[in-house]
Amino acid sequence: MTPSSSGTEDASLHRKHDGTPPTLGIDIDGTIDEGPAFFRTLAAIWPGRVIIITYRRDRAQAEAELVRLGIRYHDLILVSSFDAKAEVIERERVDVYFDDQPEMLRAIPAHVNVMLVRNEGNFCFTDRLWLFSDQTGRQV
Ligand SMILES: [Mg+2]
Repeated sequence: MTPSSSGTEDASLHRKHDGTPPTLGIDIDGTIDEGPAFFRTLAAIWPGRVIIITYRRDRAQAEAELVRLGIRYHDLILVSSFDAKAEVIERERVDVYFDDQPEMLRAIPAHVNVMLVRNEGNFCFTDRLWLFSDQTGRQV
């Protein structure tokens, strides 16, 4: 990476090409609740929209959990399938997305910065190995 391209990427973290600040998307289960202090801080200082995208059915319970964890957000969107998260991310023009399930991340457009959160569901702390299925991983 050249210094000039690095500078461009740094700038893109603050403003999109249309001048609006970037949009942050975050999952709840295994993500926010895996590092609430980090996500509380990130959401509080994020310059653009913060959208919570969760594979849950109970909106009131999700809202209560976000209040309890102190997460600032603009929209809470509930989805009912893995691919629906990717559709929401594209529709809402999310620029940076945090999730813990590779299944959720497969269909997300390449231009979105994806951050995979480690937890006991995707990482074996005994063997120190990531856990992938045939659908989400390939041995290198
Ligand atoms: Mg999750």
